[in-house]
Amino acid sequence: MHPKALIEKLIAIVGKDYVLTDKTDIGLYDSDAETLDKAAPDIVVLPATTEQVSAVVKLAASHKIPISPRGAGTGLSGGSTCVRGGISLVLTRMNRVLHVDPHERLALVEAGATNVSVSVAAAKHNLYFAPDPSSQIASTIGGNIAENAGGPHTLKYGMTTHHIVGLKVVLADGSVVTLGGAARTSNEIDLSGFFIGSEGTLGIACEALVKLIPRPEKVETLLAYFQSVGQAGQAVSDIVAAGVIPAAMEMIDQITINAVEDYLVMGLNRAAAALLIIELDGPSAAIAAQRKVVETCLEKNGAISMRWALDAKERATIWKARKTAFGALGRIAPHGYVLDGVIPRSRLAEVIAGIEEIALRLNLTIANVYHAGDGNLHPCMLYHRENEDEVRRVMLAGKEILELCVEMGGTLSGEHGIGIEKMMEMPLVFSDLDLVMMGRLKEAFDPDGILNPGKVIPNLKTCGESGARPLLRHKIMSGC
Ligand SMILES: Cc1cc2nc3c(=O)[nH]c(=O)nc-3n(C[C@H](O)[C@H](O)[C@H](O)COP(=O)(O)OP(=O)(O)OC[C@H]3O[C@@H](n4cnc5c(N)ncnc54)[C@H](O)[C@@H]3O)c2cc1C
Repeated sequence: MHPKALIEKLIAIVGKDYVLTDKTDIGLYDSDAETLDKAAPDIVVLPATTEQVSAVVKLAASHKIPISPRGAGTGLSGGSTCVRGGISLVLTRMNRVLHVDPHERLALVEAGATNVSVSVAAAKHNLYFAPDPSSQIASTIGGNIAENAGGPHTLKYGMTTHHIVGLKVVLADGSVVTLGGAARTSNEIDLSGFFIGSEGTLGIACEALVKLIPRPEKVETLLAYFQSVGQAGQAVSDIVAAGVIPAAMEMIDQITINAVEDYLVMGLNRAAAALLIIELDGPSAAIAAQRKVVETCLEKNGAISMRWALDAKERATIWKARKTAFGALGRIAPHGYVLDGVIPRSRLAEVIAGIEEIALRLNLTIANVYHAGDGNLHPCMLYHRENEDEVRRVMLAGKEILELCVEMGGTLSGEHGIGIEKMMEMPLVFSDLDLVMMGRLKEAFDPDGILNPGKVIPNLKTCGESGARPLLRHKIMSGC
């Protein structure tokens, strides 16, 4: 179809203001928060209803035009980057919390609603939506579902998949289906479970029925410092081994402590090698006993200091140190390449030593932010995009760190997904047969491969493939 005719048809579906083709406008959608890989779409479309999403997908399907769903674009694996051009389908106008049912403890939410807006809407019933990615002010429920997002409180409350009971999804041919639902059932294949974490490659989530949980009776938050990341990691392991599952156990390293302190000036201990945040929640009586266990484990592992927040204000300040960590690192270098490897908690000290060795050998600054409680590491490599040699070293370090995680019994991603970032590392954890099976499932849902193509399942042709946009990673790693 001639591009002009296509644009006219899209305008007829969503309205003139919601079809963007100007170079400057579409340039704003050329990457997510993984800014190393940039590829602008040809057209950006912002639908307002499920019917509009369905009509846009039907149109794209009839002309085999690639279509990549996008929420807030806070993804960290290039998931919504349009590596084959086509349409970037942005769901952020579909941002309503449609209904909160305090009796069933459920909320019906449009996919473009921000994560935090769900908890805000549920707050008057003393309920909230538990998955809390640090991006929750901006990231959307649709993006959280597509990535199976986690967050600091995943340790106790689980990932997004544990909090979604039903979905309204537009499939690759434009048909609208409902997966799952409010009633508990075991008489069907769990298709919503299958869809969650599929990174926009199987369909477009338009609405979600999400679980809400009651706010805990009491919350206690502790800030502790250590002379080594290894000691802090051991304390984390010991707490779980002692039978206590805190709501969260989060850690940042010395580079990050200093970047946050430069930014917030809140009196953090710049000399410490690790800052550990531990949060306990639940009934008051249980918390008192758990506090003792936590303190004993921290003392045993040589904590330099520890302090429980005295009130909600101090608790919020402690969390600000963690939640602004990535932003604060922007003071050191303009770009950060954030990894998402997972390891068994008990091997934290070994992996950290390995990351330090890689940073030294490849002459890179690597800051570390960890969901320490569940062994989810976020090494953040700080770099300058225009420095090709530095980018090459970042790519190499990324590969080596993921190899190390796998060698230690871990895996590639805890919550950020594979996207384009870790696609080439998939064979480290999946056999050829595993990948063929994934390809077959994708084909069953999307026979023409129009939905978010070039993601998750590796295609070794990469840059030689027809329609693929040249990415910086391909240029640097394979010269094309
Ligand atoms: C500062 C910062 C902190 C972060 N902290 C966390 C954290 O603690 N935990 C965590 O898990 N992640 C975190 N992230 C990563 C990111 O915020 C999450 O992956 C989030 O779920 C992405 O949501 P989004 O709306 O921005 O999606 P996008 O980035 O727009 O898209 C992400 C993926 O979802 C797909 N997608 C989007 N909407 C839909 C839809 N409606 N239907 C189908 N597919 C769709 C896209 O195609 C893409 O593959 C962080 C990111 C930043 C920048």
